[in-house]
Amino acid sequence: MSDLGIDTELLDDRLPELKVVERILELKGKRHALVLAHNYQSPEIQFVADYIGDTLSLSMVARDAEQPIIVFCGPDFMVETAKILAPDKTVIYANAWARCPLATMITPEDLRMLKQAHPNASVVGYVNTSPECKCEMDICCASANAVRITQSLEAGEIILVPDANLASYVSRLVPDKTIISWHGFCAVHHMIRKTDVLDLIHDHPRATVIVHPECRPEVVDLAAMVLSTDGMMMHAAASQDREFIVATELEVVNRMIEYNPDKEFYGIEKAYCRTQKRVKLENVLQALETLEPAVNLQPEVLEGARRPIERMLEVGRAESLTGDER
Ligand code: SF4
Repeated sequence: MSDLGIDTELLDDRLPELKVVERILELKGKRHALVLAHNYQSPEIQFVADYIGDTLSLSMVARDAEQPIIVFCGPDFMVETAKILAPDKTVIYANAWARCPLATMITPEDLRMLKQAHPNASVVGYVNTSPECKCEMDICCASANAVRITQSLEAGEIILVPDANLASYVSRLVPDKTIISWHGFCAVHHMIRKTDVLDLIHDHPRATVIVHPECRPEVVDLAAMVLSTDGMMMHAAASQDREFIVATELEVVNRMIEYNPDKEFYGIEKAYCRTQKRVKLENVLQALETLEPAVNLQPEVLEGARRPIERMLEVGRAESLTGDER
């Protein structure tokens, strides 16, 4: 123990990490680089980031950024989306091995097959897809605007891929359209079971249940509100409610606890995204030092994928603080 009562052993343990943080902050300035981090990134990554948010808000920040270099702490599809929207910038994967399994669950060939089978359908694709898949879409969507985007289309048939749970949720709210889904899923949200939420409701009967739309339909059935992760954060801050059960990745719950010390939040312990947690401080430092690996896409892919993403951004967030009505 030091004279100030600080556990010096603990401080010694964190010293290498603090040096890496210091070097990252210094290099960010020198390189005129912007560091973006998704809501599911670890606290130390969020600490060195300039912006933290969900897929939709980070896409908008990347598009409007003044900095010539973006280091993106998130899964592959988000980094690539940033490059598509900011083709003149150097966009670097903080860790190129952070590959979202959901984004691999549909290929451009699968999508072409669906389009052939449903020639009158409009194609809405989740941003959690490869750039090549995006080239096959009419419009992209994120969890914050999937319902409004589907509602805004004229077609009566909508191909909505690849997340089957999101498609099921959208089909409830847009009953006048036929939704053609795919069999993809986000392992993190799909592993949240009805019993996990029921157990929490039993222990905290007064808590408001908020759920991410990538959860199973029977989990969505238990929700008072269905929201994207940024929507959840905003709702938790604005609501008069004091207790919340939150069915999404655990890091979001940790941030809610930090920002709302007067409220109680109960999360699902197993909802932990290993893909997102692959990004470490050392990766961010290396990305800033080497400016590699940068996203490198063929010009026709950049061009073809930009159109559906830009159409999505024209719609914007379109999510109210109270979530979509079920
Ligand atoms: S939370 Fe799900 S969708 Fe997001 S990166 Fe992890 S596996 Fe992919």
